[in-house]
Amino acid sequence: MRGVDVEERPLVLIWELTQACGLTCKHCRADARPERHPDELTTAEGKRLLDQAADFGDGQLVVLSGGDPLVRDDVTELVEYGTRQGLGMTLTPSGTESLTPERIEALQDAGLRRMALSLDGGDADSHDAFRGESGSFEATLAAAEAARETDLPLQINTTVCAETVDQLPAIRELVADLGAVMWSVFFLVPVGRGRVLTQISPDRAERVMEWLHEVSESEPFGLKTTEAPHYRRVTIERERDGEAGENDGLQRRTGIRAGQGFAFVSHTGEMYPSGFLPESAGNVRSEGVVDLYRESALFQRLRDDSALEGKCGACPYRGVCGGSRSRAYAATGDPMGSDPLCSFVPDEYDGPLPATHGERVPTD
Ligand code: SF4
Repeated sequence: MRGVDVEERPLVLIWELTQACGLTCKHCRADARPERHPDELTTAEGKRLLDQAADFGDGQLVVLSGGDPLVRDDVTELVEYGTRQGLGMTLTPSGTESLTPERIEALQDAGLRRMALSLDGGDADSHDAFRGESGSFEATLAAAEAARETDLPLQINTTVCAETVDQLPAIRELVADLGAVMWSVFFLVPVGRGRVLTQISPDRAERVMEWLHEVSESEPFGLKTTEAPHYRRVTIERERDGEAGENDGLQRRTGIRAGQGFAFVSHTGEMYPSGFLPESAGNVRSEGVVDLYRESALFQRLRDDSALEGKCGACPYRGVCGGSRSRAYAATGDPMGSDPLCSFVPDEYDGPLPATHGERVPTD
């Protein structure tokens, strides 16, 4: 998927199959509840959505998420259908006992390309406390082992906030031990139940990202951040330091952020730039997902770097980063404002700074 033109198609299209889930995780964006919503997209509507997703082009990645997508009994059918349309189907189930080896094997037989499991603690006590369910840690490890036995590529997702940040080294060990191909590190955006959690400071985020960069260079698994595109700035700065200024890194390909390489379809069909930016461009029941991504005013504005405001608008890294539009929206109600988790301040910028802003980060 390298070289994807994010004006034309998302790198990742997420479909929230349901908000129903047996867990009550502290960070839950979806405010998940035990019951399914009566107005969820049906199986037939979902297949129509997958047909449209295939129009983005070959190998379009689709993530089936929730809630717990396995609450629905049509998940395997949808994975098989999407795979037949040429989509790369992946799944983010919840770590519960319903995620049996038999179910994982059936999903893989249906064509599932990758399964992502969440680990928010390095041991049962910390993970289960965060997930609100005793036994979730063991169920997650058992599912990871089952994925390994069937050669299904595994991704581990981790939420970074004040409550979890000290667990990161232990989780890193687990990611390696489980043979995961990818560690996806999500920096908390305070929406849904996540509003009760505490974001780390911009300075702490900077140190975590520097550490993540070192991890990425020493571990065999891939590493990506979610809702923290300034990880790309940190990476560029670290690499530039190592290359004696040979390359400023600003010519790299466009960064992925909400509405730019990323799109989210809710359980009722609303098309959002991300699951953490609840502004709808329209509903896939009445409008095409490709048109909404390419043509809607909301998505076009989010892809317009010249529309960025605050220090993100003045930043030399805005092309490769651009800041988390979701976090700007959560903090200010304006999706084009400054990302309050980034501590970088452009040299020439003398406008207002987010209240969370820490010390200036030197660039050279
Ligand atoms: S100021 Fe904004 S655009 Fe610049 S690195 Fe930070 S988050 Fe990215």
